[in-house]
Amino acid sequence: MALPTRITLPPRQAIEPTGEVDRNEVATATVAFDRTLSWMRFPTALEQQFLSDSAQRRLIYFMLSALLSLFIFNGFLLVDYLMVPDVFELAIKVRLAWFTPFAVISLMLTWWCRQYLLQKGWHLVVEYLVLLSGVLAAACLAYILSSSHAPNSQYYHVGLMVVIVYGNLVQRLRFWYAVAFSLIVYCIHITGVLMVQSFNPRLIPPMVALIGATLIFTLMANYALERDERRQYLLSLRRKHLLKDLGDVQRRLQQLARVDSLTGLFNRRHFQEYLQQTWQRAQHDHAHVAIVMLDVDHFKQFNDRYGHPAGDQCLVQVAQAMQDSLRRPGDLVARYGGEEFIAVLPGADADTARKAAERIREAVTQLGLAHEASSTAATVTVSVGVSSCRAREHTREQDLIAAADSALYKAKRQGRNQVASLSL
Ligand code: GH3
Ligand code: MG
Ligand code: MG
Repeated sequence: MALPTRITLPPRQAIEPTGEVDRNEVATATVAFDRTLSWMRFPTALEQQFLSDSAQRRLIYFMLSALLSLFIFNGFLLVDYLMVPDVFELAIKVRLAWFTPFAVISLMLTWWCRQYLLQKGWHLVVEYLVLLSGVLAAACLAYILSSSHAPNSQYYHVGLMVVIVYGNLVQRLRFWYAVAFSLIVYCIHITGVLMVQSFNPRLIPPMVALIGATLIFTLMANYALERDERRQYLLSLRRKHLLKDLGDVQRRLQQLARVDSLTGLFNRRHFQEYLQQTWQRAQHDHAHVAIVMLDVDHFKQFNDRYGHPAGDQCLVQVAQAMQDSLRRPGDLVARYGGEEFIAVLPGADADTARKAAERIREAVTQLGLAHEASSTAATVTVSVGVSSCRAREHTREQDLIAAADSALYKAKRQGRNQVASLSL
């Protein structure tokens, strides 16, 4: 992994990716969801996101289960044959010639248009399809039953239970659609029962009660299932937000561990890792590497004269001047310790490195920071040691640092406010 040469801390406040639901809205919805009886509706934006996120999975499930349900619907021809033999031909016509082609065409159209439907935000398409197909299936059964005079046909009304189970539990209509669907099927049932003159009056209450109980129980189960689904969805959103926060914090910590808090430069640890990496690459390419080491002259006296906070400000400005003087890609500046700074210049030969060091020294002089306690100049100055070499197999980066340190010592000895260099 390539180490960075410029410091870019991420913003403290995590920015939400576009299209995501606001995390406060998720938190509020979670609290409300756990506290009260759910109305099966999130706040608008969250609701839209929920419907959109679940639409594709729902559509695929609908297609598969609708196909299977169609086989079962037609399989009931056997029951028709046993329960209402007098209208068996009508049953064949209704199930195979009317309902089945309608269902197959609807399914094919839905499948072909699925991308379009989802892109256009038709997230409730499954609800409408189930409502329509379920109500039609119930109407088909009611029509067959109302046409039959077979004595058993009256018991066959319980077949509507299967239709209710299909909508509320198999397709798991969204709760309010399930309520609407159940009521429509129930109305079909009651109308059918009341309209058939020959219907045994003693059978009406049990039939109405059986189907009514099925309706209530399946709606209760539907409610519980959707509530769970919504709770899981909220949890998954919160998990996603937490993971994102964790990633941000981890990135921020990693970067903070590499940065000097006073000057904002990289710290010694990062510098050493970066130098090692640069050195290995240079060894491979037999390329030049240069080190520039800088020390503020008479800095102890500066602190004594102007105070520690002013000394801190001085260091910040010197660091900035050094950073601004080295702008080549790959150059990396770091605080080495106290009032010492260091830079690695990949690919720089002795001459280039010396010029860079001179630029830095000049930039610090240009700052014009008064230093009345200095015996070298009236302003803050720096001494700079430079070392450079061509990286080879047997050479080590520590030797290059040691050489820069010696050069710095030489610059100090020779009177400070100057650059001294050494080549390995
Ligand atoms: P020379 O010209 O030989 O380099 O002398 P010098 O006074 O600069 O060097 P010396 O090593 O004697 O003193 C370095 C001083 O730098 C001592 C220390 O208090 C100060 N110093 C180190 N880190 C900081 C810092 O973060 N802030 C401030 N204000 N001072 C610091
Ligand atoms: Mg020093
Ligand atoms: Mg010093």
